[in-house]
Amino acid sequence: MDKPCKYIGKCGGCTDPHLPYPQELFGKEKALRETLGEYAHLLEGIRPAPETVGYRNKMELAFGDDGNTALMLGIRKKRSFYEVATTEDCVLMPDDFKRIAAFALDFFRESGEAFYHRKKHTGTLRHLVLRRGHFTGEILVILSVSSNFNADLQAFVQGLRHLPTRGAIVGILLAINDGAADAVKNENLRLLWGRAFYREELCGLTFHVSAFSFFQTNSAGAEILYGIVREFAGEGTLAYDLYCGTGTIAQIIAPSFKRVIGIELIPEAVAAASHNATLNGITNCEFHARDITRIAGQKTGPLSDESPDVIIVDPPRDGLTPKTLARAAELAPARLVYVACKPSSLARDLPELERLGLTPERIIGVDLFPRTPHVEAIALLCRTDT
Ligand code: SAH
Repeated sequence: MDKPCKYIGKCGGCTDPHLPYPQELFGKEKALRETLGEYAHLLEGIRPAPETVGYRNKMELAFGDDGNTALMLGIRKKRSFYEVATTEDCVLMPDDFKRIAAFALDFFRESGEAFYHRKKHTGTLRHLVLRRGHFTGEILVILSVSSNFNADLQAFVQGLRHLPTRGAIVGILLAINDGAADAVKNENLRLLWGRAFYREELCGLTFHVSAFSFFQTNSAGAEILYGIVREFAGEGTLAYDLYCGTGTIAQIIAPSFKRVIGIELIPEAVAAASHNATLNGITNCEFHARDITRIAGQKTGPLSDESPDVIIVDPPRDGLTPKTLARAAELAPARLVYVACKPSSLARDLPELERLGLTPERIIGVDLFPRTPHVEAIALLCRTDT
């Protein structure tokens, strides 16, 4: 980072980017120990992120203004409807993203296009989503606009294709969104040029990631996270990967099990998981599109199989619901691996899992989000009577 960003504290992207990284990690470990409470003694430290600057492989930028009239593109400022913080000095964004964002802003300033004002219903430009394969360099650009947008997209596409980026732009997409919420939507997606996915390579496998598929936002950090999950999962006959997204964990542990069952809510993610498994020549993984909280109480279906050797759970920030937690224990796995993006949810769920016969034995933190307060934690629990 050459120059300090003038939006620190205002944009909500990072916190205190000038703190020396060892100090940041020290603070995170202290906070994680406090969060874990009675289980803090199990924490084996926090694995540092391989990169602390420009590590994000996904950014959702918003079009807005600077409080006056000029068109701006960046991260929505805290407590602001329309103002955005520009990203030229952002510590989280890779250089290629900055180059693309600068081009898009210049292009639309020149063409006179205005940002979409959700109250006045004026303007058309909503978001620019940038995604990148950290290990492949491949980039997807997704422009989100309202339906009355009619600027010259050919010139936009040509301009992007000729940008001197380090990685290659492999696909440019348009998403039409007239919704009231300030959120990017996976609707009315049109491929303008190239292909609709980028490739990422992790743990020796290749993943095709489409415009709106979930993928860990720090690829190099994710390799560390998945390595720990693989070690904790061990080996055996049957493994469950619950909240499997595009099936990354299932495929990474597949060589150590006879059969892996992945369960995920979003059907497109499940389709991507199956597709990626086929591409990787993996034949022992099956993926089901189900709401885990709803099937947790059912005695038939994909969560009713014989007792697994391991259950891996990677739930959203709220953690496990009481029913899911009870079902996981009822399936009587020898081991349960809990991947938590919000450690306080893990800390809440651990005592209940222990009460149900799964004893917490090891916890490792992984810093997937340097320069932010977030940290990931992975716990290994073992069945008491095995
Ligand atoms: N393990 C994956 C994804 C984890 S993110 C990876 O490492 O890439 C959490 C996932 O849980 C998301 O893909 C989300 O769509 C899914 N999810 C959220 N609620 C769910 C539910 N009730 N049932 C099944 N999946 C759910």
